[in-house]
Amino acid sequence: MTGIAVLGSTNMDLVAYVAHAPKRGETVTGREFRTIPGGKGANQAVAAARAGGDVAMIGAVGSDDFGVRLRRTLVSSGVDDDLLRTAEGPSGTAHIVVDDEGGNSIVVIPGANGTVTSLVPGDEALIATADTLLLQLELPLTAVLGGAEAARRHGVRTVLTPAPAQPLPPELLAVTDLLVPNEHEAATLSGIADPPAAAEALLRQVPEVVITLGSAGSLYARRGAEPLTVPAPHVTAVDTTAAGDTFVGALAVALGEGRPVQQALIWASAAAALCVQRPGASTSMPYRTEIDAS
Ligand code: ADP
Repeated sequence: MTGIAVLGSTNMDLVAYVAHAPKRGETVTGREFRTIPGGKGANQAVAAARAGGDVAMIGAVGSDDFGVRLRRTLVSSGVDDDLLRTAEGPSGTAHIVVDDEGGNSIVVIPGANGTVTSLVPGDEALIATADTLLLQLELPLTAVLGGAEAARRHGVRTVLTPAPAQPLPPELLAVTDLLVPNEHEAATLSGIADPPAAAEALLRQVPEVVITLGSAGSLYARRGAEPLTVPAPHVTAVDTTAAGDTFVGALAVALGEGRPVQQALIWASAAAALCVQRPGASTSMPYRTEIDAS
């Protein structure tokens, strides 16, 4: 077992499946509607718990029905929800339109996530007991920074997924131990499209970087060491939602157990490859026994 704290978002994904997305002023009849528990924080928490981690989630759900279901999804995967607040008002929602070509457009409304502007009593004590703190950018930056600084005070490793892509304040990167962008986020942060060159540039700001490269695998770089490329298993992807979050959750578990980086990356890639072969977000995340067997 390993101690992983996640400071992050919970969102209900409201997904409409349509032949083509409506233009402004147009109404279209869609094919199907699903509500899928998500949010990058909750996804990483579920992924890490299913991969065998001892995981606690810090954040907020709303006081609506979605909040009840978002909390239940975390708890049923074994995530400790003692520090997951219920904020008065709506839960975070992501309104997603998926067209027949697999393209999508998304409106995110932060809801309860927007109320998490700083740590509250108890949060830092929990972070202090963890070996790793997982962070993303779907909470107000003030809270993300506060969490990372608390982790640094207690010698807890910080792993930041810089999504949604945006320029980051240097003070956040200064308290980030491992940065895990996808190719697009790495390009946004570094201004460089080529992943190896982007990784090299990012190493000026953080000591370790993993750039995930979709079906091409991942690239690991550390200051003063040769970069490492880990291929992704060849699989037929049916839905890549939450692949990156599954990868990060499993990686945190493996690193927390003290596995060497290359082994940890191979294991995380196996977890993410299982995720992309199934539809959905948290629903598609594998359990430890499946990762070990793959
Ligand atoms: P994100 O989901 O954040 O956009 P990526 O698309 O880079 O991130 O995917 C994260 C990881 O998931 C990759 O590094 C890889 O290990 C795995 N993955 C993604 N797509 C595939 C795929 N088609 N086949 C196998 N593994 C995949």
